[in-house]
Amino acid sequence: MRHIAIIGSGPAGYYTAEAAQKKFGDDVRVDILDRLPVPFGLIRFGVAPDHQSIKAVAGRYEKVALSDNVRFVGNVTVGKDVSIDELQTLYDAVILATGAPNDRPLDIAGADLPGVFGSAAFVGWYNGHPDYADLRPPLDGRHVVIVGNGNVALDVARILSKTRAEFDGSDIVSHALDVLEDPAVEDITILGRRGPHQIAMTPKELGELAHLQRATPRVDKDDLPDIGEDALLEPGIRKSVTHLREFAAIPEAFRADKVISINFDFFAAPVAIEGDGKVERIRVERMRLDDQYRSVGTGESYTIDCSMVISCIGYQTPPIDGVPYEHGRGRFANLDGRILPGLYCVGWARRGPSGTIGTNRPDGYNIIDTVAEDMAISGDKDGRAGLDALLALRKVDIVTFNDWKKIEEAEIARARDGAPREKFVRIEDMIAASH
Ligand code: NAP
Repeated sequence: MRHIAIIGSGPAGYYTAEAAQKKFGDDVRVDILDRLPVPFGLIRFGVAPDHQSIKAVAGRYEKVALSDNVRFVGNVTVGKDVSIDELQTLYDAVILATGAPNDRPLDIAGADLPGVFGSAAFVGWYNGHPDYADLRPPLDGRHVVIVGNGNVALDVARILSKTRAEFDGSDIVSHALDVLEDPAVEDITILGRRGPHQIAMTPKELGELAHLQRATPRVDKDDLPDIGEDALLEPGIRKSVTHLREFAAIPEAFRADKVISINFDFFAAPVAIEGDGKVERIRVERMRLDDQYRSVGTGESYTIDCSMVISCIGYQTPPIDGVPYEHGRGRFANLDGRILPGLYCVGWARRGPSGTIGTNRPDGYNIIDTVAEDMAISGDKDGRAGLDALLALRKVDIVTFNDWKKIEEAEIARARDGAPREKFVRIEDMIAASH
């Protein structure tokens, strides 16, 4: 019997478990550990609450989770309740699928002022992540600045802009919905250090900005390259740039009844955040592109008055003591997923935060092929029985998939009208609902 431990129950974790099932059939036992009592990682806490169709992929993971040879072991923190060394003693392979839940730091003066948030915190707040339930972002100011030109920047801008009615059918948590309902914000400025052709925004997500009830996007047509140059772009990015061109052409009259303007400020890099004890303004340097399409400063700068800055510049995998780590890229040091003998990584923990949820599927299948190549089955590993004994000794209150189903049932039962669920945002409430 092969014993595999997967750390992290997000997309990478579940695709890897699915691959292990397909590869080894009845001859494998997979334990998926998660520090939270609830599964699905990014699907629950990262994917925007108004993108429910993307979250539906959890149904596929549930099929894997409910099979006999795969088990969810929630509420177990690796590094605290059990160490990597201990797991390696118990399992033939340990696979880190821990994602990239930490923000890449915005390394400028003033980034530690109250009112500056990373996207992990802000997204975690509106998605009900227990770590950020008490964030209380100051939504009483007129201007919010978002740093970064990726899809997370778009998610954040859209969530800040939507009316209560536009959240119908979403699972945005009530603590966020209530304060977003009547915003003071009039301007949301999205800073991109490079230009329209260098955005990391996908067409569907960008296009959504044109259909908001109380907000409208604004692009300065002078920032757009010559239209002929669009032909050189990949089809996806070309479509996105087409949306930017449409935004630049929105007539002023159309803006009259829109109370929020989402302003794209290209060639604009943040250099300092300033204020007396809290964010009051951000200093921005005008940038240009060099011949490698990198952004370089022009020396010209200006300030934008604002009360909140949300940095959406990418994520990092949290390091684990004793596991080799590549600091520059914010992921585990690995060669095709191999970290050390018997220790692997997959998904964002392996390659960094890029691609879609589906990208993790081939990633999961590949890592299982690698594990199969390497695996020397000693037959004397204790696997899940050994883990259970260890956790019982340490009085860790594990949450199983069936326990999670009880939590889910309780979340569905307490949902507001039209919402799929009202998430518990406190670990103790999740545990209480699981019994
Ligand atoms: P991302 O796609 O890597 O975008 C990060 C952005 O931050 C880039 O525009 C980057 O600019 C900018 N940036 C990085 N460092 C910066 C700095 N120091 N100062 C100013 N700007 C800086 O990251 P993300 O938006 O966090 O998204 C992560 C992944 O999740 C992506 O694969 C994304 O597509 C995916 N995602 C998908 C969806 C969806 O499909 N609906 C939703 C959310 C996220 P440069 O290009 O100049 O480096």
